[in-house]
Amino acid sequence: MADLVNPQNTIAVLKKYQFNFQKKFGQNFLIDGRVLEKIIRASGVSKDDFVLEIGPGIGTMTQGLCECAREVAAVEIDKNLIPILADTLQAYDNVEVIHGDILKVDVESLARRKNGGKPIKVVANLPYYITTPIVMGLLESRAPIGSVTIMVQKEVAERMQAGPGGKEYGALSLAVQYYAKPQVIAHVPPNCFLPRPKVGSAAIRLDCHETPPVQAKDESLMFRIIRASFNQRRKTLVNGLGNAAGLPFGKAQVAEALEGMGLDARVRGEALTLAQFARLSDALSGQKP
Ligand code: SAM
Repeated sequence: MADLVNPQNTIAVLKKYQFNFQKKFGQNFLIDGRVLEKIIRASGVSKDDFVLEIGPGIGTMTQGLCECAREVAAVEIDKNLIPILADTLQAYDNVEVIHGDILKVDVESLARRKNGGKPIKVVANLPYYITTPIVMGLLESRAPIGSVTIMVQKEVAERMQAGPGGKEYGALSLAVQYYAKPQVIAHVPPNCFLPRPKVGSAAIRLDCHETPPVQAKDESLMFRIIRASFNQRRKTLVNGLGNAAGLPFGKAQVAEALEGMGLDARVRGEALTLAQFARLSDALSGQKP
């Protein structure tokens, strides 16, 4: 595997280009080879794969991906990193560096152009300040994505993977699990990055479902119900959803829908599975506001 991940080599590259870290871009570069290897192995990337990397930084993970994948596209927002990447990736002819904001990239057309529309793999050490918009943007897009293997803040990984009942379980868990099956790969301490982030990190792999595991008649209503249920998570669903802003249902209607599902009227959102939220949404959508 390429050795840019070695801390001395990273520091040498940063010095050579007098690179200044930009806090606003969430720049914490990986300097631990074992963690890098674990992520790439867990991503399952092989010579058949086209990989989209988000935020290559100085190219540490990109080098590893270039060695394992057929082709890599790496989207980097910081223009100061573009000449550095031209240097650190010069040995590879299977990489395209795209200067831009990942939130504005049309991933579907990228997958069409680079992979004939077949499922691509996304691998990244994400900038933590926009983790949720990036992940939800990818999952909700119509782009063919097989899996997303990413480094995120530890608490975010735990929330993505959480099931009903725990305090980590919430709208993010349900949104992610509607589109993918999450699995935490490794917990990663701050000393594996330069500079060290103030928070712990975790690598997580999301295997995208071909079709969602539940079907709600009105997907958008289901997600509005989910969000409202966790907005005030200590409230019962009857109190939290009845008369909630943006939802047209009264408390009696929510109580009736829950009763029809055999659930206690005092139940809270944190006790419901994704399948139960889909049923609740269907029961409420059938009611007249
Ligand atoms: N992949 C590198 C590594 O592991 O060492 C760098 C990871 S660093 C946590 C996040 C990277 O994402 C930085 O290079 C940062 O400039 C880039 N970035 C931040 N916001 C971005 C955006 N909206 N679009 C694309 N890249 C972004």
